[in-house]
Amino acid sequence: KKIVKGNYYVIKSSLDPKKIYNYMMSSEQSGDVNISIINKSGQYQLVSPEKGKSLDSSIVTLGKHLQKGSSKIVEDGKSNKYAYSCLDEVDWAVIVNKRFQENGFFGLHSSLIIISVALLVILIIMIASRSHQIAQMQIDKDIARSQLEHASKLASVGELAAGIAHEINNPLAIIVSEVGLIKDKMDPNFAMSYTPEDLNPHLQHIHEAAYRCRDITRKLLSFVRQDGIELRQHNINDIIDDLIDSFFEREFLVSNISIIKKYQKNNPDIITDSNQLKQVLLNIINNASDAISPPGKITITTASDNQFIIISISDTGKGIREEDIGHIFVPFFTTKDVGKGTGLGLSVSYGIIKNLGGNIEVESIFKKGTTFTIKLPYK
Ligand code: ADP
Repeated sequence: KKIVKGNYYVIKSSLDPKKIYNYMMSSEQSGDVNISIINKSGQYQLVSPEKGKSLDSSIVTLGKHLQKGSSKIVEDGKSNKYAYSCLDEVDWAVIVNKRFQENGFFGLHSSLIIISVALLVILIIMIASRSHQIAQMQIDKDIARSQLEHASKLASVGELAAGIAHEINNPLAIIVSEVGLIKDKMDPNFAMSYTPEDLNPHLQHIHEAAYRCRDITRKLLSFVRQDGIELRQHNINDIIDDLIDSFFEREFLVSNISIIKKYQKNNPDIITDSNQLKQVLLNIINNASDAISPPGKITITTASDNQFIIISISDTGKGIREEDIGHIFVPFFTTKDVGKGTGLGLSVSYGIIKNLGGNIEVESIFKKGTTFTIKLPYK
């Protein structure tokens, strides 16, 4: 409307709502939304035939002072989301909502949900199968390591065969001689007078010697048994004593190697696998005794600081050449004759000590002697 030279003019025009609607719906952005236009009393000015006819009442009412807004409305038991925006020039508003809301769950949303769930399932399967592979690799590695440890343990027990024979021979010799004495006493040809009490000390010696044999074989069997790791509280001095008592005491006496123990008293207990630790100590002491041309000394020292138990084993043997010292923990490195050394002892020992959370180091002076130092955490 316009006043021109005092006259009042009105131009009215109208558009075919169907065409406007088709035009609006042809817009790319409209996608699968439903567009309608309502006036401020909520009557459709433009509406899709699916929704209603012009001038029907729309379900949406405009917020009184709001230019734009959105609302959630339950229609036929389904909740629909609407958004509206008021037009600048007239009191109308454009409303949009999802066009085929009733199919919404099976539409875009559901496709997205299905794709996400499928991706998630694939991801979970991949992670599960990868973790399974990693776990399997770890298990294979653990099995291989434990087989290697066991092979090395058997090899060091093999090296000990002579020592063990000594350990067992000694009590057997006692048994044989005590039985001989008893037989003599009981032999009518000697006409010795004896009372049952006279036999008691001999029987006592036999008893002790037989128990000593049983102890040694038991310890040997428990040592070579291929068990899983068994962590317990131990005192390091007891572990060393037990090992020396079972395998080395008499052997060293015979071969003129003296063992000197310099133990720290009342050192803290450690949580460890005593059998594995014995395997390491056995390797080191075996190597020390191999390196010594008797007479010689092996000194075993225990100490502790505020974190570690420290065990050092020094020998007065031939020492390690400078060019060899970097290789001694490498698997299969040996300077021993074929059939004597496997080169596994120290590499396995290194693995065991690392596995127990500790550390092992070596210092050596060629032709003077070698010291191995093991540190194990006790906290
Ligand atoms: P093996 O005893 O079967 O040779 P190890 O791994 O136990 O295998 O030892 C590797 C090598 O380290 C030995 O062959 C030896 O040369 C050297 N070695 C280890 N301990 C000592 C030691 N106390 N004195 C001299 N050499 C040693």
